[in-house]
Amino acid sequence: MKQIRLSKCSTNEEEKKAVCKILDNEYLGMGPEVVKFEEDIKQFLELKDREVVCVNSGTSALQLALSVLGIGYDDEVLVPSLTFVASYQAISAVGAKPISCDVKDENLLMDSADVEKRITSKTKAIMPVHYASNPDGMEEIYKIAKKYNLRVVEDAAHSFGSIVGKNYVGSKGDIICFSFDGIKNITSGEGGAIITSDLDLVDKMRDSRLLGVIKDSDKRASGKRSWNFDVTTQGYRFHMSDIMAAIGRVQLKKLPDFAKKRKNLCTHYNHKLTNIQNIQLLLKSVNDVCPHIFVIRVRNNHRKGLIKYLNDKGIQTGIHYNANHLLTYYKTNYQLPITEKASKEILTLPLHVDMDIEDVDYIVTKIEEYFEKNI
Ligand SMILES: *Cc1c(COP(=O)(O)O)cnc(C)c1O
Repeated sequence: MKQIRLSKCSTNEEEKKAVCKILDNEYLGMGPEVVKFEEDIKQFLELKDREVVCVNSGTSALQLALSVLGIGYDDEVLVPSLTFVASYQAISAVGAKPISCDVKDENLLMDSADVEKRITSKTKAIMPVHYASNPDGMEEIYKIAKKYNLRVVEDAAHSFGSIVGKNYVGSKGDIICFSFDGIKNITSGEGGAIITSDLDLVDKMRDSRLLGVIKDSDKRASGKRSWNFDVTTQGYRFHMSDIMAAIGRVQLKKLPDFAKKRKNLCTHYNHKLTNIQNIQLLLKSVNDVCPHIFVIRVRNNHRKGLIKYLNDKGIQTGIHYNANHLLTYYKTNYQLPITEKASKEILTLPLHVDMDIEDVDYIVTKIEEYFEKNI
C-alpha cells in the first residue's frame, strides 16, 4: 500500500558531501562554516543593516532573543495559544510568563485586538507566530508594540522563504527567529537563526550563545579560542556546529526549488479541495508564502473519522496545534474561543518536497471517498 508521510526532510549526496568535508577538517564545533552560513543567509534574504546569528534550534533562537532583551522573572510575553509548545517553553525558560492570546478565525494568526486587551505593566514583548508560513498582520502587531513600548520577537519558524511586501521575511521587523529543524522549509539537521538590526543585541547573542564568553564567536571563526576570558551575563550552550551549518548551506541553495515545489503542491491541494463540503481551506493563495504545512479545517465533527480513514490508507496527518493554554503547565483561567474551536477542526495534510502531484491526487481521492461514505 502507498505510504505518504506528513513531513520529511529532503537531502541527498550534496549534503553528505558537505558533512564529510567538515568531518575531514576534524573540527566539528562552531567555526568558519557557521560564519559562512550566516553570510549566505544574509545574502539570500537580501538583508541590509541586519545581522544573522545561528544557533542550535529554533527554540534556542527564541529563548536567546528573550534572554538578551533582559526578559525574565515576573515579566510577561504575549503569544498566540495556537503554536508549537516551543514558543511557550522558550518564554518560560527565561523565567517569564507566556500570556496566551487568541487568533483570528480567517487565518489563525494572532488577534491584535485580543493582544491589546492582555497588556499589563508586566508585559515586555509580543511573540507573534507566522502560522502556516503566513507573515501577515505584522503591521497591527508593531502598531501595538510601539504604542506600549514593547519588543517584538517573531516566531518565524514556519516562514523561512516567505515574502512580506516585496521582501523576504527577516528583512524587516524587530527580532525574527527561524527554525531549521529536520522538517522545516530548509534544515541544518537541527538549527535556528535570529535576525535583527539591533547590533547591540547581536553582540550579546553572539556571546550568550556560547556560555557568555566574550567575543569567543569571532575567535572560533578563525580557528582560535579564548583562554583568558571574562563573562558578564548568563550564557547558554546554543551555538550551531560546523556540521549543521554545512547541511544548512546546501539546503539554502535548494530553497528556491523547494519553495516552488511546496507552492505547487499546495495550489493543487487548494484547487482539488475547494468544492468538498465540510472542508475549509486555510490559505487560498500561496503566492507569497513558502508553505511549511498544509492546513485545512474539517467541519461538523468529521476530523476524527477522517484522520482514521486516511491513516488506514497509508496517509499520515497531523494537528498543528492543540491549544497551549489548555496544557497543565500553561493553563489559563480564561477561554480563547477561536483557538479552542479551531484546534478541534484543523488538520494538516502531507506536504514535503519529495511528494508529487499524484500523491496530492491520491490524498484528495481518499478524502472524497471518506465523505461519500460518511454523510
Ligand atoms: C519548529 C518550531 C519551533 C521550534 O523550532 P525547533 O528548531 O524545533 O526548536 C518554534 N515555533 C514553531 C511555530 C515551530 O514550528
